[in-house]
Amino acid sequence: MLVKCPDCDYMYISDDIADKSQHRKFHADTINGISMRPLVKENTIWSKSDERIFVVSSHSSRAEKVRARKIVGMANNDCDGNCGLIQGV
Ligand SMILES: [Zn+2]
Repeated sequence: MLVKCPDCDYMYISDDIADKSQHRKFHADTINGISMRPLVKENTIWSKSDERIFVVSSHSSRAEKVRARKIVGMANNDCDGNCGLIQGV
């Protein structure tokens, strides 16, 4: 049965194990925020307390790119794809 989570609006098939797993991950990221532990190597250009801005480019590590894609994907979901973010790194 197709269901929509009332908290994160994710739609998934309730009896599909893989779909339920995807929902759990999406739900946790949406409700709790994406885990942003500092990576061993990241190009931080500004930081204050637990906030920071870092640059991701084609020369960045795979971990930096994966994290950036996840953040952009979440931001695009938040603004229904109309916030002008491009997912191309
Ligand atoms: Zn949910």
